[in-house]
Amino acid sequence: MKNITILGSTGSIGVSTLEIVEAHPDKFRVIALTAGKNLELLVRQIRQFSPRLAVVAFPEDIPLLKEMCSGLDVTVMGGVEGLIAAATADETEMVVAAIVGAAGLIPTAAAIRARKDIALANKETLVTAGHLFMDLVAEYGVRLFPVDSEHSAIFQSIEGHRNEDIQKIILTASGGPFLNTPPSLLPNVTVRDALNHPNWNMGKKITIDSATMMNKGLEVIEARWLFNTPVERIEVNIHPQSIVHSMVEYIDGCVIAQLGTPDMKAPIAYALAYPERVTTGVKPLDLTTLSGLTFFNPEPEKSRCMGLAYRAITSGESMPAVMNAANEIAVAEFLDGKISFTQIADAIERTMSSHSAYDLITIEEVLKADHWGRELAREICKEIGH
Ligand code: NDP
Repeated sequence: MKNITILGSTGSIGVSTLEIVEAHPDKFRVIALTAGKNLELLVRQIRQFSPRLAVVAFPEDIPLLKEMCSGLDVTVMGGVEGLIAAATADETEMVVAAIVGAAGLIPTAAAIRARKDIALANKETLVTAGHLFMDLVAEYGVRLFPVDSEHSAIFQSIEGHRNEDIQKIILTASGGPFLNTPPSLLPNVTVRDALNHPNWNMGKKITIDSATMMNKGLEVIEARWLFNTPVERIEVNIHPQSIVHSMVEYIDGCVIAQLGTPDMKAPIAYALAYPERVTTGVKPLDLTTLSGLTFFNPEPEKSRCMGLAYRAITSGESMPAVMNAANEIAVAEFLDGKISFTQIADAIERTMSSHSAYDLITIEEVLKADHWGRELAREICKEIGH
């Protein structure tokens, strides 16, 4: 029986994680759950999974959550203090880090310091502060399991191999909803078009990141830290079928890939149960029914955001945190109808161009760089938006 806390239990990853828990009550027990704004879903989850602690991210919502939980045997907390309490709860052995965005940094760092193993979905943690987090993981001797399907695929493809034998990592990308859209039409695509991902059902922010290809840029940075591989050795292939989740090429020319039906329950279950495998209900892959598996290079014009991510990690230091912050703001402004789809990349690029990167020694400094990037990106979006 593994005791788990889910940070962000009301999100897409959180809900899929609870589906795995529900299917394996003999293997996983929920100790704490946290939500942002979706209190109704949180309360339904509390009724079903009986955590001893429930946390709402915004302190002003604590009274309402307490009222909604009256009669239930659960402690209610809120704010960063509550998120940290959930991440560090005594009985918890593994924390599923599934909050979206830089808000996930502080509770994830607290979990590591409390020596909890981490199932990491929140890619922004490694993007903004990869060097600090990998140092923390080593210092506290915890295990970090990737939840992102691409990184889970790489993790599964490097098992039993030596890091120095890796020639390159090949991350696959579906190409998103605009795979076949000519670049000249991208300025006019709508929020609805951009949210219409062909293969994956995910939260809004990551779905827009997939459409701009920023998601792949964030994943390149995440892979750089998780697998201690220089970015020059991390390549991206567009693979529209999303069947090959990523690959590792070794110095002897052999390539090892992981395949499966695209469903986040598979990588989540692998992170939760490692080194065991548990049933997930994911539809088995029948290769004979596929009309083909194709791979090609991304078009630079349609992957500007990914290019910015490569630029940010090459500059290093505070630049990835600023880029990530600018992206979070620009995506929110696009979802709010304030800027156009292609202005997401414009806003990030302008924010990065105004930033002189500096060394980040602490997580507080990461958050300062994040704040700086957000403020400037907000102003830029106001200036360029309609
Ligand atoms: P969702 O938007 O669906 O869920 C995000 C979760 O975080 C929700 O529980 C939300 O609460 C909570 N939350 C939002 N803002 C805050 C905040 N300020 N403080 C605390 N909690 C907050 O996102 P996803 O589940 O899609 O993604 C979660 C993370 O996993 C992201 O970093 C994403 O990049 C990564 N990821 C997601 C994949 C996917 O398939 N969805 C695949 C790989 C990685 P509420 O809903 O109650 O407001």
